[in-house]
Amino acid sequence: MLQIRSLSKTYPGGVEALRDVDLDIPAGMFGLLGPNGAGKSTLMRTLATLQDADAGSARLGDLDVLGDKPRVREILGYLPQDFGVYPKITAYALLDHFAVLKGLVDAAARRDAVERLLQLVNLWPVRDRKLGTFSGGMRQRFGIAQALLGEPRLVIVDEPTAGLDPQERNRFLDLLSAIGEAVVVILSTHIVEDVRDLCSRMAILAGGRVLEQGAPHELIDGLRGRTWRRVVDADEAARLAGELPVISDRLYAGRRALHVVAETAPEGFDAADPSLEDVYFSALLQAGATEAQADAA
Ligand code: ADP
Repeated sequence: MLQIRSLSKTYPGGVEALRDVDLDIPAGMFGLLGPNGAGKSTLMRTLATLQDADAGSARLGDLDVLGDKPRVREILGYLPQDFGVYPKITAYALLDHFAVLKGLVDAAARRDAVERLLQLVNLWPVRDRKLGTFSGGMRQRFGIAQALLGEPRLVIVDEPTAGLDPQERNRFLDLLSAIGEAVVVILSTHIVEDVRDLCSRMAILAGGRVLEQGAPHELIDGLRGRTWRRVVDADEAARLAGELPVISDRLYAGRRALHVVAETAPEGFDAADPSLEDVYFSALLQAGATEAQADAA
C-alpha cells in the first residue's frame, strides 16, 4: 500500500499544483483521473523522485518514498508522459542499455530479462528495428518494457494512451493489466475509459485537490438516484445548460442527450443509470461550483 499524506507543491510563480493530497493506493491498478493541469504529472514526478514536494509524505510499506530516493529508484518503474527514444538505436540495444543502468550487470541474466520483456510487450519480432521507425503504440510498449526492468514494486505511467489509436490503446492497456497483482501500478490519464476498463481503485484530481477516491463501482453507486437524462433540441440544450447542473451533453440521433445531477428529477427528465463519466463530470462540476463560491466569499 502506498500512503500519501498532505502532499503539497506550489511552483515558483504561484501555481498550487498539489494541495494537501491524501491518497491510499493498494497493490493493483490505480487510476488517477483528472483534466489537463490537475496536477497529475506533478504527483507522478514527485513519486518518481524527479522533483520535490514542499510538504507531506509518501510511504510504500516501510519505504519513505520522498526521503529515500536511491531505494525508490531501485524499486521504481516509470513511463513518463514524454518518453523520448533514441531514433537510431534498435529496440534490443536500447533496452539492454537501460537494463545496465538499472543494475543488471550479469550478462546472462540481463539477456534473459531483455528477451522476456521484449516478448511480453510483443516487440520481439521487431527487436532489431530502429526505434525511429516505430509507431506511437510500439514506442509506448517499449516504454513499458523499460519501466518493468528489474521487477519494480511501484510502476508509474503518466498519460500513456494519449495519441494512440484505439487498437494500439487496447494492446497497451492489456499489457498494463498483465502486470503482477502484488505491484502498485498508478496510471494517470484524462480518459475516463482507461480507468473504467482497467482500474480496481481510482481517484479524481482537479486543481491540485483530490475530489473523490474509491472503487469505480462504489463511486458510481454514490450517484445512483441522482442522475437524470433528457433528449432535447440544440436550442433547448443551450437554455437548460444555463439553468441546471448539466454533467454531459452529447449528440444523440441529431439531438442532444443531457445528463443532469440533482437530488430530484428536473421537469421532463427521466432517471438515468450513472456511469463513471457522470461521476467524473459531476465531481468536476461540484468542485467548480465550490471554487466559484469561495471566490465570491
Ligand atoms: P497534469 O499532469 O494534470 O496536466 P501538471 O502537474 O502538469 O498537471 O500541472 C499542474 C499545474 O502546475 C498546471 O497549472 C501547470 O501549468 C503547472 N506546472 C506544471 N509544471 C510546472 C513548472 N515546472 N513550473 C510552473 N508551473 C508548472
